[in-house]
Amino acid sequence: MTVAVGAHLVHGAVVDAQTRCAHWAGPLDVLAILFPCCGRWYPCHSCHEEDADHPARRWPADARGTHALLCGVCGRTSSIDEYLAASTCARCGGAFNPNCRLHHPLYFA
Ligand SMILES: [Zn+2]
Ligand SMILES: [Zn+2]
Ligand SMILES: [Zn+2]
Repeated sequence: MTVAVGAHLVHGAVVDAQTRCAHWAGPLDVLAILFPCCGRWYPCHSCHEEDADHPARRWPADARGTHALLCGVCGRTSSIDEYLAASTCARCGGAFNPNCRLHHPLYFA
């Protein structure tokens, strides 16, 4: 399933309009991430793995200014730097799942 959040299309096993997915569908699981390998948004690493025909690439350390996070609630994008320093969305105040931090090595080099 593909859902549109603002101007962005989010791919993968998306289960609702706020980009929750088959793998992460808790109340706070509302972030999607842009993958540098294909330039597509996915709710999570597993969604990319199941849907894409290539291995995921991580964002290099010098790409921290890239707007690669998307809030599924309000559609605001955050830079990687901004996201890593925040625990809530700067526009809608929605909380980011603190457990996502455990998976940052999958996404950010
Ligand atoms: Zn990719
Ligand atoms: Zn997923
Ligand atoms: Zn938001």
